[in-house]
Amino acid sequence: MSRHILFFIGPPASGKGTQAELAAKYYSWPAISSGDLLRRLADLPKKYQAAIQAGHLVDDQTINDLLKRRLAQPDTKSGFILDGYPRNSSQFDYAYHHIITAEDKVRALEIKVSDEEVYRRLGGRRFCPHCGAGYHLIYKPSKREGICDYCSNKLEKRPDDKPQVITERLKLYHETMEPLKVLWQKRGELITINGEQDIAAVHQDVVASLAQWSGLSPQ
Ligand SMILES: [Zn+2]
Repeated sequence: MSRHILFFIGPPASGKGTQAELAAKYYSWPAISSGDLLRRLADLPKKYQAAIQAGHLVDDQTINDLLKRRLAQPDTKSGFILDGYPRNSSQFDYAYHHIITAEDKVRALEIKVSDEEVYRRLGGRRFCPHCGAGYHLIYKPSKREGICDYCSNKLEKRPDDKPQVITERLKLYHETMEPLKVLWQKRGELITINGEQDIAAVHQDVVASLAQWSGLSPQ
């Protein structure tokens, strides 16, 4: 039976996870993220769990096994959405050799956001270390600059949102995803969506582009 398979790709803070969830609700397919897969590690042999606890990165083989197990569930029969997979060319090859069949309809949706916008989105984030409230300099400013609205504590930046960390994450994203985008493009499966709009507008573009592709009608 033919399935619809959607890959959602995008840089940090592109909102690809949110878009994957919205599309999942819209089409009634499960959205499977790499985080979800890792939470299933409990189903795997002890040696994997020990490796994770020791802080080792999860190797491709493990991720592929986890995905294969997840896709054996009946809810993926008519379609599914992957968020955060594949993250390298070895996972890409696995997907096209062991998961995707000739009957499947596949699209990779790139939620495109410029590096500058990623710096704006992540670099503008602030949080209150006292009460945990989250802010953004542009999108959700506090009433008084640098001060929490709720407890008047001084706002801070998370270590992950520092420019050098953002630069590293962007570099990794481009290094790993650009070659995969070329492969998807060659297969005629890449759809690029403008991610620099509000969440609802991005979702509408996703639905509209998929309607053109395989007659997935807007509901
Ligand atoms: Zn606070």
